[in-house]
Amino acid sequence: MTECLPIRRVVAVPLFGQSPKGGWSNEIRPQDTIHALIAVHTDGGPTGYGSIFTDGRLAQAGLAVLEPMILGANALEPEKVSETLHQHTFWMGRGGTLTHVISGLDIALWDVLGKALGQPVSRLLGGVWHRRAMPYCSLLMEEPVRMGDVVAAWRERGFRAFKIGWGPFGRRDDPRLDEAIVSAARDAAGTEAKLMVDAGASDAFWPNGLKWAIRTAEMLAAHGVAWFEEALPPDALADHKRLRERAPVPIAGGEVLTRRQTFLSWLAEGALDIVQPDVTKVGGLSEQRRIAWLAREFGVRYVGHGWNTAIGLAADLQLAAALPDPPLVEYIAGSAYVDGIVAEPWALDAEGMLAVPQGPGLGIALDRDRLREMTLDPTPLFAG
Ligand SMILES: [Mg+2]
Repeated sequence: MTECLPIRRVVAVPLFGQSPKGGWSNEIRPQDTIHALIAVHTDGGPTGYGSIFTDGRLAQAGLAVLEPMILGANALEPEKVSETLHQHTFWMGRGGTLTHVISGLDIALWDVLGKALGQPVSRLLGGVWHRRAMPYCSLLMEEPVRMGDVVAAWRERGFRAFKIGWGPFGRRDDPRLDEAIVSAARDAAGTEAKLMVDAGASDAFWPNGLKWAIRTAEMLAAHGVAWFEEALPPDALADHKRLRERAPVPIAGGEVLTRRQTFLSWLAEGALDIVQPDVTKVGGLSEQRRIAWLAREFGVRYVGHGWNTAIGLAADLQLAAALPDPPLVEYIAGSAYVDGIVAEPWALDAEGMLAVPQGPGLGIALDRDRLREMTLDPTPLFAG
């Protein structure tokens, strides 16, 4: 086993053309790119893959800035390389594009390490607690009748947990509509299913405040909702704390936050019941793992948010497997970037669970031909 595997080339390849509807007030257009794949090629060793949730042009620009700092570094030392990048870019706007790009690089480096050692990333993250995880099917909210049909269709495919969010919820000043949507989803999901609700208050110009969130949390409790996500704008720490104290349902959030240092104040202030960092934004697996373990010390549950591509999902699965908490991962319904880019399709078992890939690294292989349909040119991902 070699002690050093120098990084020879890093590339970012934006994905576009098949982004699912976001439900954002400034809706994603087909030509927009909101995710990019990263490849880290090494000298004589395996290539690792990562994923970044930001505009593809920012991913490429950020990578160009980081490239001189990473070429030649040892790909077998993910945490050391990522922390060095964080430290050397302190003056370039911490927590933004560069943190997002470091996320993709960090995931790719863990993938390299796993492939080089012949071990799944979950083992390298400290040990395997779980071999499968429950994916919750993430669905955009629809008008009540349509909502029921959509949930029923995904239940039919084997999902046992659902999260509905965004769309008209909280945006029409109509509490009866909000309740009708949730009620339709509950009816379709069945009483046994886990059902979560995501207001999506990180969307632009969120119109509601704390009182709305408290009233809505009470309504959600009546429908057996397991958590209320982004009920308030993502910077409203003090209001999240008040909501957590008053709401009968667990309060979740944190998907747009980056860096472990940011999460520290949310945890210390007691602003959340469930913390949801996004592995493709927050700083990668190295950062995500620290946040997940730190959350436990504050009595806060961790659930990953790397739903956006198959690589994000694989990273979330590997980390969920390496934590003692009941393993749960977000699974966006009907995304080509999750279902269409892997050589081996994701498959639910009879209990609606997903196996944590046991192959080396993240345990997934990319489908080069399918990637031709959603990238300008996937070749740089494979040509080291
Ligand atoms: Mg969300």
